[in-house]
Amino acid sequence: MTEQPVAADRRARQHRSAPPSASATAVAAATVASTTAQWLRDSPRFPAFVAPGRPRVLVVTGSSPRRCSDPDGEHLLLRAFKNKADYCRVHGFDIFYNTAVLDTELSGFWSKLPLLRTLMLAHPETELLWWVDSDVNFTDMLFEPPWDKYAGHNLVLPGSEENVYTIKSWIGINAGSFIIRNCHWSLDLLDALARMGRTAPWGDKTFLESSYCLSGFWAYIVDRFEEMRRDSTTPPEPGRWPLTTHFMGCKPCGGDDSTYDAAWCRRSMERALNFGDDQILNLYGFKTLNTTAVRCVRNDTGGPLDAGDEELGRLLHRTFRAANL
Ligand code: UDP
Ligand code: MN
Repeated sequence: MTEQPVAADRRARQHRSAPPSASATAVAAATVASTTAQWLRDSPRFPAFVAPGRPRVLVVTGSSPRRCSDPDGEHLLLRAFKNKADYCRVHGFDIFYNTAVLDTELSGFWSKLPLLRTLMLAHPETELLWWVDSDVNFTDMLFEPPWDKYAGHNLVLPGSEENVYTIKSWIGINAGSFIIRNCHWSLDLLDALARMGRTAPWGDKTFLESSYCLSGFWAYIVDRFEEMRRDSTTPPEPGRWPLTTHFMGCKPCGGDDSTYDAAWCRRSMERALNFGDDQILNLYGFKTLNTTAVRCVRNDTGGPLDAGDEELGRLLHRTFRAANL
C-alpha cells in the first residue's frame, strides 16, 4: 500500500495499518484499508481530523426495531436520544441512531458489531466511532474525552488495568460506551469478536480508561447529583461531573431481565436526564424545575453572547470550542 498522508490525517495513517496476516479476512481488511486511504487522499474536504488533535467523531447508538412494551419506555428512549443529540451538537460530533437488525445472527447487544463495521466502511472520513448504549446518558455536557491520550490506541474501553489484567474480572470492563478507531485493526477485531462471541482479544492497542466515567455505573452516581451541583465551581471545570451515567441492569423498555427495581431505575433515569438537560437549558437561560417544567434564570437581552461567559459561548458555538482545543 503506497501512502502519501496529508497533514490532517498523518497520525491516523500511522495506526490505520496492522501487522500482516494470511487470513482471508485480513486480506479483505487490507484492501479496505488501502481503499480508505485512497478515498481520504481524494477527498480533502472530508479529513479524518477536523483540526489538529481533533479527530472526526461519530457517536453511534440505537435501540430495538420493536416498540417498547411499556409506553413510558418510549418516552425515556426519546429523552435519552435528546441527551445524546445535545452532547453531540455541543462538541460538533455526528450521531447515528440505528434501529435495524443488520445481521440476524447478531441481535440485541451483538448488533453493535455489524453496525460499527458498516459505518466504518461507509464513513472513511470518520476517525473515531464512539458507541453509546441507549441507556448511557451524558451527565457532563462540557467534558470531552482527551483524544491525544488515545493517539497510539485503537480501542478505548472503560475499565482499569487492575481489574482486567490482575483480578481478571469481566465486570472490570463494560461495552456500553467505548471508542474505536476506524482502521484495519478495528475491522479485524470486529470480525474476530463476531466469530468468537464473548472472548475478546486484547492487546497494546486497547486503552483501559478509568480516569473519568466513560461508563459510570448509575447506582453510584444518581444520589450525588444535587451535592455535585451544589459543590461545583463557576465557571465550571470540565470533568467535574461524571461524563456518563449508564443504567446497566435496568430495562427501561420493560421486560423480565431487569436486575434492579423498575421504579428505582425509572426515577434515577429521570434524575440523570434532567441533570444533563439542565446543563443545556442553562446555555439558553433556563433551568429545569422537574421533568415537565422549566424556569427562566437570565434576562433575555437579545444578544447571543450577552451572558459574557466565555464557557457558554464555546458551548453554544462549536467553532469557538474547536478553536479552544
Ligand atoms: N440495542 C440495539 N438494538 C437492539 C437491542 C439493543 O441497538 O435490538 C442497543 C441499545 O442501545 C442497548 C444496547 O444495545 O442499550 C445494549 O443492549 P442490551 O440492552 O441488551 O444490554 P445491556 O445494556 O442491558 O447490557
Ligand atoms: Mn447498557
